Amino acid sequence: MSKCLPASTRNIMSLSLGGFEVLLERKSVKNINLRVRRDGTVYVSAPRRLPLDAIERFVVSRADWIASAQSHVHERAQQAQWSAEDGQVIFIWGEPHVFELRTLPASGGRPSCSFSRHDGHLTCAADERIATSSPECLEARDKQLSQWLREQVRSHTALLMPACEEVVGQHCAGVRFRTMKSRWGSCNVSTRLITLNDRLVHHDPRCLEYVIFHELCHLLEPSHNARFHALMDQVCPDWRERKDLLERR
Ligand SMILES: [Zn+2]
Repeated sequence: MSKCLPASTRNIMSLSLGGFEVLLERKSVKNINLRVRRDGTVYVSAPRRLPLDAIERFVVSRADWIASAQSHVHERAQQAQWSAEDGQVIFIWGEPHVFELRTLPASGGRPSCSFSRHDGHLTCAADERIATSSPECLEARDKQLSQWLREQVRSHTALLMPACEEVVGQHCAGVRFRTMKSRWGSCNVSTRLITLNDRLVHHDPRCLEYVIFHELCHLLEPSHNARFHALMDQVCPDWRERKDLLERR
């Protein structure tokens, strides 16, 4: 056990327990609660007076679960990182695609590239001016690939939205797309604008549909309360399964 270091002004300590770096929060709870956060850190909340070795025993008893949760987080982080380089694996709609670069002779205007998917490959036909492995070329291809990926989410959303709106019985005022680190979507209830994370392109398309349902349901119920979950059960009965799928990947 290492020395406790205060992590913030709240009653949180950062310490090593059972071989894991743990953020321990002491609060008025009856039981020990443990979870692995999206950044892979282990967070534990425990009753204020519970001895530290009891908490450590608890962490050790959950060691296998923690290790597997952390490896999912790691896998997910890798999936969100890609670069437009030969041989790189990029997940599109939940399926791995190997990036394949083809060089085209330079043509007039700004150098660009086009993308196509076939049999587990993502082929990028690039103007020779941006087809080398220099950092500038790589950056130019990354930028075009991220635009292409966003376009995939945009067009698939346009396809799904009318049916989802019909099921929920609500219309949104519009959808915008952003790359977000900590959420899959959001809904501004007053403007009725929905924002979706363009990283949804890496996951099974049923996950995108689940997030669309989730945000549309917020137009009827802003909080994640029992009424909200009942609405979700009605419009997308297997939403829990889809949510798990999204969080596992
Ligand atoms: Zn929500």
